[in-house]
Amino acid sequence: MRIFDPHIHMTSRTTDDYERMAAAGVRAVVEPAFWLGQPRTNVGSFADYFDSLIGWEPFRAGQFGVRHHATVALNPKEANDPRCRPVLDLLPRYLNKDAVVAVGEIGYDSMTPAEDEAFAAQLALAVAHDLPALVHTPHRDKARGVERSLAVVAESGIEPGRVVLDHLNEVTVKLARDTGCWLGFSIYPDTKMSPPRMVEILRAYGTERMLVNSAADWGRSDPLLTRATAEAMLLAGFTADDVDRVLWRNPVEFFGQSGRLDLTDLTLTGDGAGPPATFAGNSILRGGS
Ligand SMILES: [Zn+2]
Repeated sequence: MRIFDPHIHMTSRTTDDYERMAAAGVRAVVEPAFWLGQPRTNVGSFADYFDSLIGWEPFRAGQFGVRHHATVALNPKEANDPRCRPVLDLLPRYLNKDAVVAVGEIGYDSMTPAEDEAFAAQLALAVAHDLPALVHTPHRDKARGVERSLAVVAESGIEPGRVVLDHLNEVTVKLARDTGCWLGFSIYPDTKMSPPRMVEILRAYGTERMLVNSAADWGRSDPLLTRATAEAMLLAGFTADDVDRVLWRNPVEFFGQSGRLDLTDLTLTGDGAGPPATFAGNSILRGGS
């Protein structure tokens, strides 16, 4: 079984996670830029974070045979902090990088005017850079958040097939499914979407334009819930081809629209001897050998 987790915050995870993910079949991930929990106080803090998303983290993933790509953006929560707004001017530099396969996470947290502005400005950047967009839908007041997000997406002129609305559930999937946007679902250990609920959604709406992710981060989350969903699909009578479509071919198709996905087998790169052992002179052994 091959798995592509299209939304996971590996910066917050350990090497144990990479090991378990690789053993479970996870061969590729996309890591969206997000809120780190601790407020950032200046633009330089974002520059270092974005650099690590396209430098150190892909290197670290590569040590475990996992392909890593990123999306960059000013996240909805920090769009409200005037100290972070200049990040919008920093983004074009990163949106030109090969490791960046979309603009994201953008969208709404509390649906403030500052979020409106940052959301629209970043959809315009996606259009200008010919990149897909990853839209986070709010955890509170979800239905209204999805409705408003869809209105902003429509207004931006971005092609709906280049947008994923993420963190959907049984209620919001109904609002999003006929828009032409891709539908993202985050499977969590004890809140929101679970593997059995995801299976029911796939039964009701089919496998087309469906993306399943773990959204694992610094909170309670589980990077193996993509695999658990695949197994729940098989138990419910979906075929191995259905599983491959949802857990691999769909994310490849969506992020492939960037023209930048590199899914070559990492064991065959370099001198034919696997991934490089160091990044900027450092290994995951903290300088040891
Ligand atoms: Zn996220």
